[in-house]
Amino acid sequence: MLIDGHNRVVNYLRISVTQRCNFRCKYCMPEEQMYIHEDKDKLLTFEEMFEFCKVMIDEGVNKIRITGGEPLLRKDLHKFIGMLNNYKSGLDLALTTNAYYLPRLAKPLADAGLKRLNISLDTLDKHKAHMIARKDVLPQVLKGIEAAKKVGLGIKLNTVAMKRVNENEILDLLEYAKGEGFIIRYIEYMQNSHATQSLEGLKSEQIQEIISQRYNFTSLGKAPSSPSEMFELEDGYNFGIINPHKHDFCESCNRIRLDAQGLLIPCLYFEDGRNIKEAMSQGDIQKATEILRDVLKNKPEKNKWGEDEASSRAFFEVGG
Ligand code: SAM
Repeated sequence: MLIDGHNRVVNYLRISVTQRCNFRCKYCMPEEQMYIHEDKDKLLTFEEMFEFCKVMIDEGVNKIRITGGEPLLRKDLHKFIGMLNNYKSGLDLALTTNAYYLPRLAKPLADAGLKRLNISLDTLDKHKAHMIARKDVLPQVLKGIEAAKKVGLGIKLNTVAMKRVNENEILDLLEYAKGEGFIIRYIEYMQNSHATQSLEGLKSEQIQEIISQRYNFTSLGKAPSSPSEMFELEDGYNFGIINPHKHDFCESCNRIRLDAQGLLIPCLYFEDGRNIKEAMSQGDIQKATEILRDVLKNKPEKNKWGEDEASSRAFFEVGG
């Protein structure tokens, strides 16, 4: 079993398989960073990732989320999913994506054993989507969502709630999600040095205020081991609000992160990590396991958001 320095059991691994992204979302990436060069030799191969995942699965990890950058840019991702699924059936295998490549990839991913998707959808307006992603993406994204639904993948929508950007679409997005049978979760915008600085997020209370203009709802409290608070409308539909700034999720945090180059990171908002690439490329599982134990020992008790130790790492580097 994997237990960190504060006696929390870690059973959830998030893997960023690439930093590259085909979108340039204003809340995530700087405009000038139009091309991200990723040195292939420095990336963990899927075989190396898989060997490391085996150690973690043997130690009790039962949930793995693949993220990025845009994870669907990494070639043969479905084969990696298949390797994990064949190693242990019943693993909760999930993916966070912008959905752009799902028209082509939803089926091979589902066939390989992927269970669930979190899809980023900030607007239903084609022009606004273009403005946010700096690319005309919405028609293809909606086709991707349709393709994923068709092959039976579980779908949650993630929406970064921003003043004067999609503030007037909070209810439209809720109606869309409700109509499609998806849970929608509004994410409070997290200010960071890579985003367009003029953006301003909506706070949980402001999102609730907008939804209350049409619906009565009650809080169901925190989802287990998650920064998301869940709410229920009178008709039984559930939606969530992710407030990443709060500390109240930290005491039940069960996750650890691995980036595409092998950096093992104990918390999204923490600069220190240790790299397993060298150990894994030499097939030195024992060394990689030692590094894992060390990182677990140093997992901070609470996230350092807003404090001096907060990470300057971008969300596209580690997966948000
Ligand atoms: N490309 C994939 C996607 O679009 O979902 C995965 C990577 S993306 C970095 C993961 C999540 O981080 C997305 O849901 C995105 O909305 C969220 N995210 C990125 N920057 C953010 C910010 N500044 N504040 C809040 N959420 C952010």
